[in-house]
Amino acid sequence: MEFKTIIEPFKIKSVEPLHISTEEERKVYLKTAHYNPFLLTSDQVIIDFLTDSGTSAMSAHQWAGIMEGDEAYAGSESWLRMQHVIQNLTGFEYILPTHQGRAAERILYGNIGGKGKIFISNTHFDTTRANIEVTGAEAIDIPIAESKEPSLLHPFKGNMDIEQLKLQLAKHGKNVAAVILTVTNNSGGGQPVSMSNARAVSELCKEFGVLYILDCCRIAENAYFIKHREEGFENYSYEGIAQEMFRLTDGAIMSAKKDALVNMGGFLAVKDLELWEECKNTLIIGEGFNTYGGLSGRDMEAIAIGLKEVFDPGYLKYRIRSTTYLGEKLSALGVPLMLPIGGHAVYIDAKAMYPHIAVDQYPGQALAGEMYLKGGIRAAEIGSVMFGKYDDNHKLIPHTMELVRLAIPRRVYTQSHIEYVIEVFADMMKNKDSVRGYKITSEPKFLRHFSAHFAPMG
Ligand SMILES: *Cc1c(COP(=O)(O)O)cnc(C)c1O
Repeated sequence: MEFKTIIEPFKIKSVEPLHISTEEERKVYLKTAHYNPFLLTSDQVIIDFLTDSGTSAMSAHQWAGIMEGDEAYAGSESWLRMQHVIQNLTGFEYILPTHQGRAAERILYGNIGGKGKIFISNTHFDTTRANIEVTGAEAIDIPIAESKEPSLLHPFKGNMDIEQLKLQLAKHGKNVAAVILTVTNNSGGGQPVSMSNARAVSELCKEFGVLYILDCCRIAENAYFIKHREEGFENYSYEGIAQEMFRLTDGAIMSAKKDALVNMGGFLAVKDLELWEECKNTLIIGEGFNTYGGLSGRDMEAIAIGLKEVFDPGYLKYRIRSTTYLGEKLSALGVPLMLPIGGHAVYIDAKAMYPHIAVDQYPGQALAGEMYLKGGIRAAEIGSVMFGKYDDNHKLIPHTMELVRLAIPRRVYTQSHIEYVIEVFADMMKNKDSVRGYKITSEPKFLRHFSAHFAPMG
């Protein structure tokens, strides 16, 4: 008998208190944070869905590994173990450790980018885009058309548009520095990419002689979807699926803060020795020697263990099923969602939830504010605050979608935390038509969502 209840495939050994606040207190906290949830302090938050990045709970095995960390400056054994696990997973010989994903991005895209260069992706994640644009290069997103319809069902909505890729490669020729496939597609709704899509991208990159990079932050979650949705993979292990996908590419960038189940770390892995040598020089200048790259030995030990644990079938089933559970319950309440529900997060279509708020008054930011006020739940806007641009008259060029992401930390919250979130949303649905939008009162030049200030519209 297969029971319906999803039990967490772990029990709790160490606990961390939650700070419970009242709605009155949260009104003051949110105003003080200039209505930007990124500027709240964590003790002002009850359930933190801001990100699944670096927020995982480590296992007892990983904590034991922390004590085993070899802190040697050069040739640390923990590095050798981490390197071995990554080589085995990716099939790439040349690995560099970095303190997080964006450091690997800065190093690689700094080396191959520059003015006149083009990068093409299913969707560039925000730090990816920033690290490309800061070199003067251009980042082009070509997700499949289906990805732009939030309520449309498609098993692999994270896929890249292959026809578009062909056109872009033909158009930009030698100026294309790399094609980046992001799995799962974080900014595109946490949607998976199929193996056949990854293969089609590979064939075109080979034909045009272009470097093919996998942004593999959520490679295990993506493998889960392939096993259960794509024909021919039923009998593969999750790790086997990931290995097959890496083998199609020339290199990979990973933020270990996602599917390596750790709080800090990342890596760059490449096939080509010359490219690795160039990147190694940048790493040593900015991050540290190439056997630690900005990480402690203990961090590298935890990554080596986490990268194995994440492919455990019991863990992945719980992970994906529990995210789906939250999504299905919110859907049943009438909350408009990005469908189907992705791997690490539930994405709410704020434009559909608050049709009375104009896009230049940021419905996503309004929803994030409301969730916080009502339930102390923190979440990130993924819409025109994150990706909006201005035209020459400082008029907003909105993003294609106005989403709010409830990103679920790995192995952190229990079923009753999730039931609480569902109850808060049931309450929010009652007065959703009276929620107001925001205006931006100050913003930085890059990655403005992290630190912009807002004020509610009158
Ligand atoms: C998190 C993330 C990154 C950047 O990694 P950091 O560790 O946050 O620097 C890059 N790409 C994707 C898809 C991500 O989710």
